[in-house]
Amino acid sequence: MTICIDFDQTYSRNPAMWDALLHAAEIAQVEVICISRREDTTDNRQTIRAAFGDEFQILSALILCGPNTAKADAAKAAGFAVDIWIDDSPEVIPSPSPTRAALLKAEQAAARMDQALKGATP
Ligand SMILES: [Mg+2]
Repeated sequence: MTICIDFDQTYSRNPAMWDALLHAAEIAQVEVICISRREDTTDNRQTIRAAFGDEFQILSALILCGPNTAKADAAKAAGFAVDIWIDDSPEVIPSPSPTRAALLKAEQAAARMDQALKGATP
């Protein structure tokens, strides 16, 4: 069995409680990974590693997939078949449908346009 736990607003919301789960999983020989949609940067890795503290070594993997990748796709690409997801934003887990992917792309284009218009305003 593989459990995937989110970091922001999930693990970070109550580390002591999730640490208890990590220890239980370790004893039960259940694999736990952490996938975050943060960008894969050294700073983000260090922040998350520090927040987990000693329990970081229980994790089999820390995957930072960035905001444009579905967590299910990131897990699969890294070779993990996740059985249980623990996440405050479950909508970011599945691979987006073609319609959802198009909507996300349109939202990103609108945000870029909005940003450009703000920059052009005197
Ligand atoms: Mg989250």
